[in-house]
Amino acid sequence: MADTLILVLIDGLGLQSACEAMGYMNALCEARLARLHPVRSELPSLSRPLYECILTGVRPVHSGIVDNAVVRLSTQQSVFHLAANAGLRTAAAAYYFISELYNESPYNAVRHRFQDDAGKPIQHGCFYDNDSYPDDHLLLDAEYLRRRHDPHFLLIHPMNVDDAGHREGGHSPCYRNTVRRLDSLLSLYMPAWLEQGYQVMVTSDHGVNGDCTHGGTLPLERDVPLFVAGDRFNLDCMESPDQTMLCGLACDILGVEGHGKPTLPGFLR
Ligand SMILES: [Zn+2]
Repeated sequence: MADTLILVLIDGLGLQSACEAMGYMNALCEARLARLHPVRSELPSLSRPLYECILTGVRPVHSGIVDNAVVRLSTQQSVFHLAANAGLRTAAAAYYFISELYNESPYNAVRHRFQDDAGKPIQHGCFYDNDSYPDDHLLLDAEYLRRRHDPHFLLIHPMNVDDAGHREGGHSPCYRNTVRRLDSLLSLYMPAWLEQGYQVMVTSDHGVNGDCTHGGTLPLERDVPLFVAGDRFNLDCMESPDQTMLCGLACDILGVEGHGKPTLPGFLR
């Protein structure tokens, strides 16, 4: 069965802050309209390696994308590749690393900020390269793509939480308040998405430690949330997927057959 999917990848959002500072997302869980699963990030707990992990199901040490400084197209099959090859429409409002992994590398802001090419894995893209690009504007970019192109798979990738963590640390009021603002933003969009039948996954690549960084093995760096909402998710499933299973689950939701990615039996209905 094929459904539409929105993947919200909140950069740098740790599990503890997701539990404590996201009142709207946790309200959905308390009402049994969503479920929060803890996920342990793969290593290193860095952005580009984990975008690749989440979107292809391949660990960094196997994909070769082991650092943010590895700038090249992915050699793996991503959700974007698999969905586009299955005849589905794909879109992303995301940080420029995503363009460098799947569409255009290296990124040139003048040429690559807006992309529309049915022959690319990401058919419709709106990319940014400033870590303080406001989350509310990023959500508007995503909503433009959704309304204009009606994608089957839409990636939404806000950066302000990670940016706040780098400035003041993963324990700081600045960090938690940025999470609260994003939760409030999601509350403005999620009801319409769910009403319109989208399946929604809200997760993160990694958290941020007290040293204003990430990359290592601390729980603050590795423990991230996975909120799932939509009628394809089995909210009674007690098991949480590995980060490498998110790609396969996305493909299953989209009805992409024969993707060969790891997945978690019983997680979907
Ligand atoms: Zn970061």
